[in-house]
Amino acid sequence: MMFADLHLHTNFSDGTYTPEELAAHGHRHGLAAMALTDHDTVEGCERMAAACETDGIEFISGAELTAEIRGIELHLLAYCVDLHNQKLLMEVGRFQLVRQNRIREMVARLNELNVPLQADAVFAIANCRSPGRPHVARALVQAGLCGSLDEAFERFLKVNRPAWVPKFKMSALDTITLVHQAGGVAVMAHPGLNRTDEIIPELAQAGLDGLECFHSRHSTATSNHYLQMADEFGLLVTGGSDCHGMNKGRPLIGSIKLPYQHVEALKAKAAQQRAKLAPPV
Ligand code: AMP
Ligand code: FE
Ligand code: FE
Ligand code: ZN
Repeated sequence: MMFADLHLHTNFSDGTYTPEELAAHGHRHGLAAMALTDHDTVEGCERMAAACETDGIEFISGAELTAEIRGIELHLLAYCVDLHNQKLLMEVGRFQLVRQNRIREMVARLNELNVPLQADAVFAIANCRSPGRPHVARALVQAGLCGSLDEAFERFLKVNRPAWVPKFKMSALDTITLVHQAGGVAVMAHPGLNRTDEIIPELAQAGLDGLECFHSRHSTATSNHYLQMADEFGLLVTGGSDCHGMNKGRPLIGSIKLPYQHVEALKAKAAQQRAKLAPPV
């Protein structure tokens, strides 16, 4: 059997592995295909593609885009997108500026709480264009201001904690359109963590292509529930570990082994999407 992991992060967002390290771990776990899904960026894809080629792994381009529908946050996985699509690059570029400003705002709130963290310390640790809360947490630990990443989230960074700053999100419907016009397919990430099943019919109506039925934090019952929903709404089935490297204690890569048939179906849908964009003359 051939297997894939279609949800992975590198240090181009809040993962700790470089693309080369991530590919090497995938190789060690015997993965036939890997997708890179960094938060709001496709920057790591070129290096990941090269690293996968070296390791004999099929690479699927991707990103995890932050979106919202009726005030509910969700993450949309964009797969098989054209990495040079101008509209996509412009939109993720906007997201990255928002993320950088949000870091400054979180640091300002920490400073108001007499936590003397500097924004530059966060940017130095993040060392990427798409920084997020895990980088703030790491900076707090490194500066000796928190004992652990968990403590940083619990005290300051979780939703509605004192240094939490809401994040700008694109509408899910616009995001689906953005992904489609970039030749890709849009999949709702970890629906079992969102627990907002009521939005799935609307998203399906708007052209959502798939559901991430398998995820490292989905129980078997949860996976089965979303397999049923995918079937009901005619959606593709995907899965991935959501590995962030050493961020959350142990690396999660290897915990999800998506049967390769789902990768075939994903690629076929993306090919259909691209054919729609460029009708034969
Ligand atoms: P952001 O994109 O800046 O809102 O940060 C979200 C990321 O923070 C997620 O992708 C996780 O990697 C991480 N995260 C969220 N909540 C926690 C938590 N309670 N503990 C550790 N990491 C978390
Ligand atoms: Fe993350
Ligand atoms: Fe996510
Ligand atoms: Zn993720």
